[in-house]
Amino acid sequence: MEKKLAELKQRLLEASDLNAAAAVLGWDQAVYMPPGGAASRGRHLATLSKLSQEKATDPAIGKLLDELEPYAASLDPDSDDARFITVSRRNYEKAVKVPPALVGELSQNGAVSYGVWAEARPKNDFAATQPYLEKTLDLSRRLANCFPGYDHIADPLIDFQDYGMKASSIRALFAELREQLVPLVHTVTSQESIDDACLHEHFPENDQKAFGEKVIRAYGYDFHRGRQDKTHHPFATKFGWGDVRITTRFKENDLGEGLFSTLHESGHAMYEQGINPDYEGGSLDGGVSAGVHESQSRLWENLVGRSLPFWEHYYPQLQATFPAQLGRVSLEKFYRAINKVQRSLIRTDADEVTYNLHVMIRFDLEMQLLEGSLAVKDLPEAWHARYESDLGLRAPGDENGVLQDVHWYSGLIGGVFQGYTLGNIMSGLFFSQALQAHPNITEEMRQGQFGTLHGWLKENIYRHGSKYTADELIQRVTGGPLTIAPYMHYLRTKFGALYGV
Ligand code: ZN
Repeated sequence: MEKKLAELKQRLLEASDLNAAAAVLGWDQAVYMPPGGAASRGRHLATLSKLSQEKATDPAIGKLLDELEPYAASLDPDSDDARFITVSRRNYEKAVKVPPALVGELSQNGAVSYGVWAEARPKNDFAATQPYLEKTLDLSRRLANCFPGYDHIADPLIDFQDYGMKASSIRALFAELREQLVPLVHTVTSQESIDDACLHEHFPENDQKAFGEKVIRAYGYDFHRGRQDKTHHPFATKFGWGDVRITTRFKENDLGEGLFSTLHESGHAMYEQGINPDYEGGSLDGGVSAGVHESQSRLWENLVGRSLPFWEHYYPQLQATFPAQLGRVSLEKFYRAINKVQRSLIRTDADEVTYNLHVMIRFDLEMQLLEGSLAVKDLPEAWHARYESDLGLRAPGDENGVLQDVHWYSGLIGGVFQGYTLGNIMSGLFFSQALQAHPNITEEMRQGQFGTLHGWLKENIYRHGSKYTADELIQRVTGGPLTIAPYMHYLRTKFGALYGV
């Protein structure tokens, strides 16, 4: 049996190696590749993904899993091997249900649709994208229908990203959040607006980069097993336990842009760097869900990186880096500027309080598209109507409306957006648990020390990779199910104090 288990691990490792090679090509494409490389790079990536898919769905894997079934039943169900077999079976059974032709069509359509969107967005030309979006919707439905027996057609798509969640459970959670969030948004945005002009002086890029790297080094991001480069859209990517990279972008007239995206991506990367190295390339490697992953990035970006204790330590250093720009700006003024709340049109620029309203709009529209109650041609107007009712704003065109996010234009419709808000909710939950276990974390932040917090996250979340489902992880850490209470408490306390309400 040990030999069969070793063979299973070897086969899955080879599939994972092909994906890692594809990730290197993807990173290069975003960081260094000249534009002329696009066509052949697309082909390289398609070939690797086809080979990896073939390896991962090889019937020999199914046979090994069947043979290992009695062995798995004899193991401690909480052991790494038992969990490895369980997760491998789940992944395999999902993968074999999707015909290779559909996988190919999805990746082909994603690439073409992305290209059309990238040209259409600056021209405000939704009509150009409409036929591709219709095709994406059709493919998303076909993918969902590879998993019959669902309650809601989005369920299989949500399951890919946030295993264990369903449209119904997310709707219930979001409804509860919305009920508490809307009055908070209303209260805060009816106070006097915060002046954040101090963030929009000229901040030379190299100084921004050095400052951000100093912070994430202190957080515990390991540069010996990572690096940071520049891209259009920041991301974190993993090639192996010893190589987890991040990318960022800078705007010289917007200090927050580069700094907070660096802190955000470092959170994703520290999660991956902290996974048990024994899991490398296997079914337990990698963060467990989109929601848990986002909780780690948001925790370091917002709950730490936009907190007052953090800046009590770092603000004098930031002032020393930018004396002409910030020398005469007080800590209080700066802290208020980086936490300014306002109703806005763009999700990625949104503050902590309004952010989830942007996500919920997208989630609801996705559900309606999949259900067939909203046609793609009516999507731009449905978007504007929701922004008017939820945020009281209407974008002048589709560029800053339905064309603003890449997600629907490069992959699937459905299963994509819920992870952002789940992550915010979980960030509040996990952080409150860490503080309960170690009340000295706040004082350490004031000293620019993050070892206790990082250690707690590593012990309770990072090292487990995908060994436990998100639900199990939350249960283990908190002793209960996912709840919005700690997150709402965090928002109310922080923004209540900031806005004097
Ligand atoms: Zn993220």
